[in-house]
Parts: sequence; C-alpha cells; structure tokens
Amino acid sequence: MSTPPVKTALPRRIDARKLVQREQQLSGTVPLDSLPRLASSVESVVGEVQAELAFGRDLQRNQMADGQLQLEVELLCQRCLKPVTEHIEAEFSWGFVWSEEQGKNLPKSLDPVIQDGDELDLYQVLEDEILLNLPMVAFHQEECVSRDKFHHGEAEAEADEQQENPFKVLEQLKGSSNKS
Ligand SMILES: [Zn+2]
Repeated sequence: MSTPPVKTALPRRIDARKLVQREQQLSGTVPLDSLPRLASSVESVVGEVQAELAFGRDLQRNQMADGQLQLEVELLCQRCLKPVTEHIEAEFSWGFVWSEEQGKNLPKSLDPVIQDGDELDLYQVLEDEILLNLPMVAFHQEECVSRDKFHHGEAEAEADEQQENPFKVLEQLKGSSNKS
C-alpha cells in the first residue's frame, strides 16, 4: 500500500544566506493560523496555502529566491454580497538584503526582502506576497447564481399565489351561489 505524499509545512524561520548557499528548494504549506492579516482580509481561506521556493544566486551574484504560491479564498461578491471563490496564484523573485540601502542596489527584477539579523520570518514575507495579489474587489464571474435563484424563487411563489387566487375566488363564488 502506498500512502499519498504528506504536505509538510514550510519552515517559519529561515536564514536566507544559508539556503542560498545550499541552493535549497522548499515546497510546502503555510499554516493558516500564522496568517492573521490574510484571515482578516478575506471571508475564508479554502484548503491550504501552498508555496514553492528555489534559493540561489542570479548572474550578478545577488542572493535570491524564485518562488510561487497558490491558494483559494472566499471573498464577498460586491454585487450580491455572497461568497465568491477566487484562485490566487503569484510568482515572485526575491532579492535578499540586510538593509534598505542594500535593497536599492538590487536590479528591478528582484523584490527586496530584508532579513533583519540571522533569521527571516518566511510566513510573513509570503503573507505580504499573498496580500499584494488579492483582488481589490470580487464579483461572481458570470451571474450571481445564488441571488438569481433567490429572486427566481420569490417570483415563482408570487406567480403561484396569483394562479391560486382565481380558483379561490371561483370557489368563493360557487360557495356563495350554493348558499343562496
Ligand atoms: Zn454575486
């Protein structure tokens, strides 16, 4: 029997310098309870946040990492105010620096990520990346299904009532004519 590969969480604290030296590749998930800013920006996160990172140096010997992440979130549709699921995918290239000054010397192709001291909070940097890629507003792509259903149901109920009424009136007429 083979067991499916278990998705392990990425390390939270990394030393970018060491990972660059080892040309480390990382792949894993980011625990949702460590992404409070994301949690407060969306209705909910569906499933897991997955990310892959490849550390190394570019041609100018800058310490960097190429990465991508993906997740699904529920946002409120601005038309019907019901949840709409959005797939978020982001690709990024980070250049690791140890001061803002160093960051200014990076080529434009690299987004500066400042490691303060010996460690970097990888989750926080990934969360920044997610927040940058969240849509400002969300809408259901074609129609607001749940809203249309609701209104359709209401219209049908009204139509039923209107259809019932003539019979009721007839019965009442019959009833009154029988009595008289
Ligand atoms: Zn909608």
